[in-house]
Amino acid sequence: MNPESFDLAMMRLAIDQAHNAATVGEVPVGAVIVRDRKVIATGYNHPVGSHDPTAHAEIHALRAAANQAGNYRLGDCSLYVTLEPCAMCCGAMIHARIKRLYYGAADPKTGACGSVVDLMAERRLNHHTQVHAGLLAPECGQVLREFFAARRSGAADSDAARGGGSRGAGSESGGSNNNAVLEDGIEVEFLDNQPDDE
Ligand SMILES: [Zn+2]
Repeated sequence: MNPESFDLAMMRLAIDQAHNAATVGEVPVGAVIVRDRKVIATGYNHPVGSHDPTAHAEIHALRAAANQAGNYRLGDCSLYVTLEPCAMCCGAMIHARIKRLYYGAADPKTGACGSVVDLMAERRLNHHTQVHAGLLAPECGQVLREFFAARRSGAADSDAARGGGSRGAGSESGGSNNNAVLEDGIEVEFLDNQPDDE
């Protein structure tokens, strides 16, 4: 794939959105929706702060774009997102008839564009979004890696301040084994990496 400079610029905007998520303490994933080479909506991941399991970057952007268009169908739009979409977001894109999807880093835990399942390639579904994988994947993954590294070091600092507790989430030796390694070797924790017993 030899991406156009326009597509690279749009993915950089999506990375900016991912940084917005990190700023409010959410796993940094960002999305941008484009029609006629104009940005019509953006979104970033924020399920924790909104108490909303559907508050992924893509859903946020799809809602904003559909609202702006006055139509839930976005058949002439492209969606750029920094991380491979999950099944929920692929489903929403199919309902919205998104024409093209560009994503950055692969997500081996919840990715539904080939990593775990490949919904966009399922011929029995009624709409087929064209998928362009791996656009600025190293940069997209780096945002995630920096976020989790900072969170781990913050957790270590606060553990030390409390006299050395060993709350496991995210620590090297602790209880979190829900991490995974992205294609380019980035270790990340995923969007659903919360205790199941809340
Ligand atoms: Zn999603």
